[in-house]
Amino acid sequence: MSSATTTSATTENRVFEADVSRLLHMMVHSVYSDRDVFLRELISNAADACEKLRYEAIARPELLGEDARLSITIAADPDAAMLAIADNGIGMSRDEMIEALGTIARSGTRAFMEQVEAAKGKEGAQLIGQFGVGFYSAFMVAGQVSVVSRRAGSDEAWRWTSDGKGEFSVAPAALDEAPARGTTVTLTLLEDAKTYAERWTLERIVKAQSGHVPVPISLIEKPGAEPASLADGAALWTRAKSEIKPEEYTDFYRSVAAQYDEPAATVHFRAEGRHEYTALAFIPGSKPFDLFDADRKGRMKLYVKRVFITDEAELLPRYLRFVRGLVDTADLPLNVSREMIQDSPLLAAIKKGVTNRILSDLGKLAEKEPEAFAGIWGHFGPVIKEGLYEDYERREQLLGLARFTTTASGEGLRSLKDYLAALKPNQTAIYYITGDDAERIKASPQLEGFRARGIEVLLLSDAVDSFWVSSAPDFEGKPFKSVTQGSADLGLIPLLDGATEAGAEATPEVTALIEALKTALASEVADVRASDRLTDSAVCLVAADRGPDRQFEKLLAAAGRLDTAAKPILELNPQHALIGRLAAVQDEALRDDVAHLLLDEARILDGERPADAKAFAERMGRVLARTLG
Ligand code: ADP
Ligand code: MG
Repeated sequence: MSSATTTSATTENRVFEADVSRLLHMMVHSVYSDRDVFLRELISNAADACEKLRYEAIARPELLGEDARLSITIAADPDAAMLAIADNGIGMSRDEMIEALGTIARSGTRAFMEQVEAAKGKEGAQLIGQFGVGFYSAFMVAGQVSVVSRRAGSDEAWRWTSDGKGEFSVAPAALDEAPARGTTVTLTLLEDAKTYAERWTLERIVKAQSGHVPVPISLIEKPGAEPASLADGAALWTRAKSEIKPEEYTDFYRSVAAQYDEPAATVHFRAEGRHEYTALAFIPGSKPFDLFDADRKGRMKLYVKRVFITDEAELLPRYLRFVRGLVDTADLPLNVSREMIQDSPLLAAIKKGVTNRILSDLGKLAEKEPEAFAGIWGHFGPVIKEGLYEDYERREQLLGLARFTTTASGEGLRSLKDYLAALKPNQTAIYYITGDDAERIKASPQLEGFRARGIEVLLLSDAVDSFWVSSAPDFEGKPFKSVTQGSADLGLIPLLDGATEAGAEATPEVTALIEALKTALASEVADVRASDRLTDSAVCLVAADRGPDRQFEKLLAAAGRLDTAAKPILELNPQHALIGRLAAVQDEALRDDVAHLLLDEARILDGERPADAKAFAERMGRVLARTLG
């Protein structure tokens, strides 16, 4: 909390909340390199304020009064190095001003600072808009910032001022110097930022960054000059697709997404028929920072007849929460309450229509421009895969979009269609292995027998993989099967030329060894058996035929959703020299030590620890001592 340092009848001085102070310091010192963004942030706040008023005025038209044309005016004074951004939007009351501009740390503040500290410089500036800290970017270019605001319908005006060094003050503003409605942010530019009071700089930045804000913007280039229009505030999405240039889409994307990158894909269409609406949606070119937030909300905006209504309507399923953009419809009444929207059948129709269109456009992109699609999949695949268990109806379609790293993929990604096209004779399942470390699962011993037969295996290392794969029984009639579960039954699939036969055939000695190990390891494994999935390694662990595979079991256990983990099955490679030698060992104590060591080795290969580190070390010590003599 902040505290009032001085209070007089008129002016109240306050100290910024500690995080805000740190943020301001950072704005000036770390995020410094791309200062142009401050203008876009202030314009975006002004536009938000206009859109809020447009919405509130539906229920209370008197708020607009005589002055119904919402607009933003940039007024420069190059001689005095001053710049003002004025809007006739909703405005702020005194309390709103104190809350919004400095007292209470906004939720994004700390997250933003962490990201900037990690990113440094230019990338930091790219992040500003996403974190709800845009206003403070004014201090990148200004030594003094003054905000005078009058809330629509109020007869009080307030002035907030600060030099961004730790304190701000709030005082009543004389009505004759306050706007009739809305907010004016006035910047006293720093010595090295005077160019931001010059016409050509302002024109350049507004055209490049804010040309498609849905509120008109004009520029007064010096005191007394006539306002000149910089942007007409026309809604880009209402224009025909063929008339919109790619850079206009990019510009619009940047203001709607609060990101500065290029959109990776743009979906723009008009639905006609029973429900009419226009959708303009973008797949971002980079990952938003909060992609995996617990409350993972979408950010599509809903407009009714070009009036912004809300960005909280769930216009898309959660697994498309990274999509940015808007839907504008004339089929809802303007005075629709935000609460009513969520239950309206129109919303359900929009959600379905826009989702279908985005997925089908992504499908086409995947066909025509596999590399561009691979980029999108790289960023958002782990999120889209949530749809595999959340959107049962579209599961087949989503599986069609999914791309995988596999044992056959080399550098590129493979689709399930690619996979099915490369099935081996007698292969009846789509094989996969899951784990949290892509490199380690690639080296899993359980894959050996599959490699020896050239059978492709999906390498699944995203956190969501265990969840969808255990609930996606098949794709085009082929079931998914974990290579770490059940018996591999690889016998019917021929070995590649030159591969050595692993084979489950065991000699009588090995069969006797297996029986002995079942007893020795009875408390730790459910079974011991000869394996046909190993060629080089001596042992591996697999899960029973039914129930979760080993990785999924670990996840369930970590989430406290599993009372008792099932015991794994230990598989031995009957052809492995070590197993042959062990079968010949008569000394029971030695055989017991080696059996436990092999079990721990299998655990380690699975990314686990030995069950009992001390016992492991003692056994290792005894066996080594014996070997070294
Ligand atoms: P964000 O825009 O993401 O909320 P900002 O730091 O840009 O974060 O702005 C903080 C808040 O200050 C806004 O949410 C809004 O409540 C208030 N604000 C800033 N500029 C204006 C303005 N021109 N008119 C009304 N409110 C404003
Ligand atoms: Mg903002």
